[in-house]
Amino acid sequence: MPFHVGMIRHNIRLSSSQKVCGVYARRQVNTTTTTRSHGGGVVALTNQSSHTSQTSRCLERLPLSSIVRSLVLGAFFTSPSLSKLGLAALAKIAQSRSILLHPDKNPVIRAVIKPLIYDHFCAGVTKAEVRHRVARYQRIGYSGIVLCYGKEFDPAKKDEAAAAESNVADLELAHWKQGNLETLDMLRDGDILAMKYTGAGRSVVDALISGAEPPKAFAEALEEIVGLATAQNCRIFVDAEHDEFQKTIDRWTIDLMRRHNRDGKVVVYNTIQAYLKKSRENVEYHLGLAHAEGWTMAIKLVRGAYINHDPRHIIHDTKDQTDDCYNGIVHDLLTGNMCDISKNDFPNVELFLAGHNEESVARASSLVRELASKGMLRTMPRFGQLQGMSDPLGCRILEESEEMKATCSNRNFAPPKVYKVAPWGSVQDCMMYLVRRAVENRGATHRMKDGMAEMTKELRRRAFGKIMGR
Ligand SMILES: Cc1cc2nc3c(=O)[nH]c(=O)nc-3n(C[C@H](O)[C@H](O)[C@H](O)COP(=O)(O)OP(=O)(O)OC[C@H]3O[C@@H](n4cnc5c(N)ncnc54)[C@H](O)[C@@H]3O)c2cc1C
Repeated sequence: MPFHVGMIRHNIRLSSSQKVCGVYARRQVNTTTTTRSHGGGVVALTNQSSHTSQTSRCLERLPLSSIVRSLVLGAFFTSPSLSKLGLAALAKIAQSRSILLHPDKNPVIRAVIKPLIYDHFCAGVTKAEVRHRVARYQRIGYSGIVLCYGKEFDPAKKDEAAAAESNVADLELAHWKQGNLETLDMLRDGDILAMKYTGAGRSVVDALISGAEPPKAFAEALEEIVGLATAQNCRIFVDAEHDEFQKTIDRWTIDLMRRHNRDGKVVVYNTIQAYLKKSRENVEYHLGLAHAEGWTMAIKLVRGAYINHDPRHIIHDTKDQTDDCYNGIVHDLLTGNMCDISKNDFPNVELFLAGHNEESVARASSLVRELASKGMLRTMPRFGQLQGMSDPLGCRILEESEEMKATCSNRNFAPPKVYKVAPWGSVQDCMMYLVRRAVENRGATHRMKDGMAEMTKELRRRAFGKIMGR
């Protein structure tokens, strides 16, 4: 059933070669009075012109602490020498087994990492901290949180001595299961649990590499977690990982979707990495199967985080090709133009657009408006950014979403949902995640500088407002 917001005109027309970075927040949005038939009813529309300006007040939503921390970390990450030093220190701490470098045991290290880095990127150590964070996101306007248990299993760091202990694989699996169950316990209706299969330890890693069936104990644990998520009306994201695991991750996750995404219910999402040359083919494979077998395909679309580890030849040769692939998949799923399935027969799909790329978000958002205004939107996407990253972008999507709802005369229209994504766990548990964020931020200094300029403006506005008594 296509989505339909009524007749909304707007002035963004993007050709595939146009770059719109930085324009997203500056555009004009015009809506025009008309009436339109909608699902048998008549939709009365308003005459309105709204301007989403670059100086939009959307950052008003953010608490002062997160603005200040973004500025401090931004200064750090945009300085080549400081960020190089900081990254080396973080990586050393993450890999060390010494108590001296343990961020939960050495109070000096903890006093630096916890407030400055951990609190910026992670949801919390305890349930109370996480609940506090979730409540804050709710106040800002986010639809929910995507939460994952931060402890990861590093296959490269397999400890042969530990492996000799017969029950070590059982302990790793038990720990992973417990972490996911505790995560679910912190989620509310509509929130999402994100998980990595490799987090379940060496027995699962070995099965993923060899392409075997899921080990029995893991399959049972997974079934219990999915059952609980279903009962709580939560969804589950299965993260995409290194290429050596991905074929098996896809197979196991398709099997979960086949069994749990049925009869209008969607519980499990697989992740597609658009930087892979075969990613479009893979989406088509998922969609073809779902269509033929009568289940719902649910996809989290990312660009891909393992460019420095995976074989380079399987990844698009250029960033532009990755961008085109990402945007192309979004376009075809929103318009219902894939796998030669007729538009009338195009199945329900759930699509979560994970990423911090302004252009992709602007294109997707613009397309949602355009297609919804014509009653031709086949898939309503959801959006998500990582905690501590691209807050201005997240706030703009929230505004855009609220504006769509406000300008739509159909009260039942549900605009795109927007989520924040974060891990939780002890500082040590989240160290590998923090190292990846540091690497990613070092490589995105342009975006950081833009974000810092907006944050500085917002900080000035608040200070000035205080002085003026506003
Ligand atoms: C909510 C969320 C969930 C995520 N989950 C996963 C996950 O499960 N698995 C996973 O792998 N990643 C995941 N990521 C990370 C994601 O894959 C990207 O690494 C990250 O978001 C940066 O990409 P971007 O889309 O934000 O935009 P950008 O910063 O515009 O794109 C950067 C990305 O472009 C690609 N790229 C860069 N240079 C080149 C080049 N020369 N040639 C080809 N491609 C290039 C790389 O993928 C790089 O990460 C997630 C990200 C978010 C926000």
